[in-house]
Amino acid sequence: MAATLEEEKKMIDEAERDLLHTYNRYQVVLDRGDGMYLYDVTGKKYLDFMAGIAVFAFGYNNKEYNDALKAQIDKIIHTSNYFYNEPCIRAAKRLKEISGMDRVFFTNSGAESNEGALKAAMKYAWLKDKDENHNIVALENSFHGRTYGALAVTGNAHYREPFGQMVCDVRFGKMNDFESVKEKCDAKTAAIILEVVQGEGGLIPANKEFLESLRAFCTERDILLIFDEVQCGMGRTGYMYAWQKFGVKPDIMTTAKALGCGVPVGAFLMTEHVAEHSLTAGDHGTTYGGNPFACAAINKVLDLYESTHLVEHVRDVAPYLEKTLDGLKDRFDCITERRGSGLMQGLVFDRPVRGIIDRAMENGLILINAGPNILRFVPPLIVTEKEIDEMAEILSAAIEA
Ligand SMILES: *Cc1c(COP(=O)(O)O)cnc(C)c1O
Repeated sequence: MAATLEEEKKMIDEAERDLLHTYNRYQVVLDRGDGMYLYDVTGKKYLDFMAGIAVFAFGYNNKEYNDALKAQIDKIIHTSNYFYNEPCIRAAKRLKEISGMDRVFFTNSGAESNEGALKAAMKYAWLKDKDENHNIVALENSFHGRTYGALAVTGNAHYREPFGQMVCDVRFGKMNDFESVKEKCDAKTAAIILEVVQGEGGLIPANKEFLESLRAFCTERDILLIFDEVQCGMGRTGYMYAWQKFGVKPDIMTTAKALGCGVPVGAFLMTEHVAEHSLTAGDHGTTYGGNPFACAAINKVLDLYESTHLVEHVRDVAPYLEKTLDGLKDRFDCITERRGSGLMQGLVFDRPVRGIIDRAMENGLILINAGPNILRFVPPLIVTEKEIDEMAEILSAAIEA
């Protein structure tokens, strides 16, 4: 039976007493989902344009996915990496196929994937000169996760400042400004890391010349190019991985979020050359990473991408989202810009957007921000024109109010 509003409020109060207060959560207790819609414990229905932060690619409560997870639970959930397991073997092969990379290491999250990528790059550099003082070049406004290594390369000082000395020497260049990146590099630069489309930093896509310049420069200097595809990957831009649009291949790539569609998984992948000259037995590990349950999730996710032609669907529907958001920008003076790529879009406002998000939520639409002034649109990839219209209607009313 559905809870009353009062009961929901009690649950929220309890959560606020017990959980560490690291989030300003929406005042909603979610209960279940179905396709593009979510329901809270009172039974209220929401159209979801957030997808659990770019996670639920094929929407909620997908029967085929749920059944695959249940079947794996009845076989075995965990083995440790002292053993091989069939779902992991299959997932590695599939992930290589879709990414064009050669070697896979499975992790449990995006941050952890970036940790592994950075360790691989540092080891690669260390093997060349046995010097411990290598550096990494990252970009301003980047977001790579909350663990220490990932935090060190996150280009938002606000996230780093209170946490002391960072774990390595990191310099920050500017997105789509090759010279600004080049001038931060020196003989001790191990890697350049970037998101092909910046997510949290404001939905900023890298352009082709920038990526091509970085690629040529990295190859020339033997610096490793790392692409963080945690948010922009898995079909969100209309390509399985965002770099594939430009044909600019990284040396190391990280993936997570939609890879598990709700089961916490991630991976970092590399070329054979990097694999041969970086991490070896004993250098890196994880208890859960690549376990049969996680990999059963990955396998079914990739099956569903294929059987539903999800990436092609993104290419078909994304222009409609762009057109709709452009329409809102023309209509409302407080919107200064639309930007992004595929089903990863942002509307830039001349004021904070939290009030708009709260009003949209009251009217049954879930959105998130990317920074204080940007509304972010990262719906499940199954979204259709009908739901884009529904979103625009609720959002317009929220902006007007
Ligand atoms: C979300 C995100 C991460 C961190 O992933 P977690 O699973 O939260 O650790 C890293 N990089 C990018 C680009 C992300 O969007």
